[in-house]
Amino acid sequence: MIIGSHVNFNNGLLGCVKQAISYGANTFMFYTGAPQNTIRKELDLNNANLAMKLMEKENIDINNIICHAPYIVNLANKEILSKWEFSINFLKNEINRCEQLGIKYMVVHPGSCLKNDRNECLKNISDALNYIINYDTKVTILIETMAGKGTECGINTLEIKTILDNIIFKDKIGVCIDTCHLNDSGIDLKYFDDYLNEFDKLIGINKIKCIHVNDSKNVLGSKKDRHENIGFGTIGFDNLINIIYHDKLKNVPKILETPYIDEYPPYKFEIKEIYEKKYNPSLKEDVISYYKNL
Ligand code: FE
Ligand code: FE
Ligand code: ZN
Repeated sequence: MIIGSHVNFNNGLLGCVKQAISYGANTFMFYTGAPQNTIRKELDLNNANLAMKLMEKENIDINNIICHAPYIVNLANKEILSKWEFSINFLKNEINRCEQLGIKYMVVHPGSCLKNDRNECLKNISDALNYIINYDTKVTILIETMAGKGTECGINTLEIKTILDNIIFKDKIGVCIDTCHLNDSGIDLKYFDDYLNEFDKLIGINKIKCIHVNDSKNVLGSKKDRHENIGFGTIGFDNLINIIYHDKLKNVPKILETPYIDEYPPYKFEIKEIYEKKYNPSLKEDVISYYKNL
């Protein structure tokens, strides 16, 4: 199993690897800067080299590591052209940073259409991606399935398919499914196989290159997007385990984006639960007492 969590980039790639190891993870996902803004500092290549050495030693395969683009870039809306162009240039730059680090996958949110026509916006997303991806791009962009909050695009399999169909370099585009987003968009994960079959028919299962494993604070179809710790939400532990251990998704990296408990990361404990396939109802107490006594 390939499993990890979101980690922070405060101490560069080396810091990411150290966090992943401390959680018992064999992969991780990071933002190259704050997710809410587009301020980026110069990459520290010495730090990156040390990270590579540590990954080799710890059997962390760089091919399974995921970068996540900041969620404020919006490829869907072209109303203010300069903003759309800024998003395109910013993502080109992020891809460049990934290439320098040797990272193969970058998750991107499709964007929001605001007051505009949805179909037009789906086309804007593809157009933007066609500016970003070239024949020599070494990073595969993964479009994330969204919850349907506000005017988000990419909220069902057909919309994702529409975006993908218009991409020129199809081998450089894939999909990241987020379990919380699927639930909130109206997919009942009790019947995950139905979803997967439809996805396979429309897009192809082999396009799923990353899974965000989150429980949800809200009910099916709520269009909310608030993540919950695994087993504590409306999706439930068993349904998540079923997805994580799905035969057809064996080699797909699974990334936890569940919320911190107080100021502490829950991932070490959630990963343990996943390996043991056993729900821990005292997860929150365990996390707090572990990190308090560290
Ligand atoms: Fe995301
Ligand atoms: Fe996600
Ligand atoms: Zn989310």
